[in-house]
Amino acid sequence: MKVFVAHFNAECNEHISHIVNRDDFHFLYGDDCVKAMKVEDIFNKNDIEVIPSLYANTSPNGMIGKETFDYICECILNPLKEHLSEIDGIYLQFHGASGVDGLDCISGEHYLVKEMRKIVGKYMPIAMVMDPHGNLTEELSNQLNIVRCFRESPHFDTVETRRKVAELLCDLMLHRRVMKPIIRKLPIMVGGERSVSANEPVRSINQLLDEAEKDPRVFSTSFHVGFIRHDDDKLGAAVVVVPNTMNDIDYCNEVADRISQYTWNHRHEFKFTGNFDEVDKSVETALNYPEKTVVITDSGDNCGAGGYGQNTIVLREMLKHKTDKKVLFAGINDPKSYDIISKCKTGDKLTLNVGVEEDENSKSTTLEGTLKAIGKQQKGFSSDFDLGKSYLFNIKDTNIDVIIMNDNIQYGTMEQFDAANAPFHDYDIVVVKMGYLDTYLIPETKFHIMALSDGPTIQRSERIPFKMIARPMWPMDEFEDLYFIK
Ligand SMILES: [Zn+2]
Repeated sequence: MKVFVAHFNAECNEHISHIVNRDDFHFLYGDDCVKAMKVEDIFNKNDIEVIPSLYANTSPNGMIGKETFDYICECILNPLKEHLSEIDGIYLQFHGASGVDGLDCISGEHYLVKEMRKIVGKYMPIAMVMDPHGNLTEELSNQLNIVRCFRESPHFDTVETRRKVAELLCDLMLHRRVMKPIIRKLPIMVGGERSVSANEPVRSINQLLDEAEKDPRVFSTSFHVGFIRHDDDKLGAAVVVVPNTMNDIDYCNEVADRISQYTWNHRHEFKFTGNFDEVDKSVETALNYPEKTVVITDSGDNCGAGGYGQNTIVLREMLKHKTDKKVLFAGINDPKSYDIISKCKTGDKLTLNVGVEEDENSKSTTLEGTLKAIGKQQKGFSSDFDLGKSYLFNIKDTNIDVIIMNDNIQYGTMEQFDAANAPFHDYDIVVVKMGYLDTYLIPETKFHIMALSDGPTIQRSERIPFKMIARPMWPMDEFEDLYFIK
């Protein structure tokens, strides 16, 4: 037997002006595609040969350009047509949060799966593994035979879940039976910072899912948080239960209703965790904290979720205060200032207008100061992701340093701070472009506060003016009775 595979991963934020093009994607084909998907051994063990198409992966960013999406479709649909007579099933790793500029249905996944179903007909088994921050509708679910997302956010169970779904698909391919997911689309729309799986209500929802999955009548279950960064009629959370056989449908309907009702009853527990506050209060709290190192996360401009790192809101707020504290902004993305400072040497005095002036959030501020240190800017841990030099700018008459960047780099590891010659623990306060505190910063941080700043990754989703979503929708609307979005 043979299985056709594809990987398409994109989280598209329409509040980011950049249109994602081919250069923003990491594309792999053939054997490289198969290797990157990390499931070949599972299919092979079941005597199923893998037929690759495309591995397309990009970091969270803006909407995808139509030409780029057309290319992705070609790379998946053409080989599918070519191998149609050989294949026995389809395995997809599709995120669910893509948005395509100029595509009527907006969602790339919805479009692609529909096209694939047209090619292979009604009965070819298709399994899809998603990110919980993707949008799943009844329409999409109806095209699939198995759909399952990761349980954990942050997603430390990504590979494990992808492998689990591969196992499930092998089972279905080897023992063909009628299989169709049951979906309950919930009128709940919350961002990732309100749905961390270590906290309630997701922790308990996951327990219910795990328990349900132990029953042989239940083939798989998942809870989809959904994605809120572009306006789309597919937004909202979802509970999915896949019955093992046709005889298990009634029982699985009960399970889906029970978990949906639990989620609805506990919706008020979807809230920010830890310390959070408005920007002015967050800065004040950080300045008053007696110990170090304090971290402020600029959550409206979270580079890990596609923010461009160009907003100056927190910097401007900090400059309103007179403080002797040592403060590091890591960093501000401003290519023009980067260009100017890159022509200087350590110790040079200069004036920078920091801020790209794209909108109110990235308003520039004129700063006199000194180029304090030159280092390396890198993403993540290693120099494999070396992105040129980094420039540490000290603001005159203060202990405030700013890393001037020319890319949307998220500072989250000690290695990165060291490479920039701005060791994390040299500072009392460090401001990073992040939402919840990333794993590697937690043990290093004495006190953390999430600043609820405006920007492309704004956490107060109630403030985003959605037009296309189903209404009523919680928390935009307060209402008592659960209904399912159709
Ligand atoms: Zn996610």
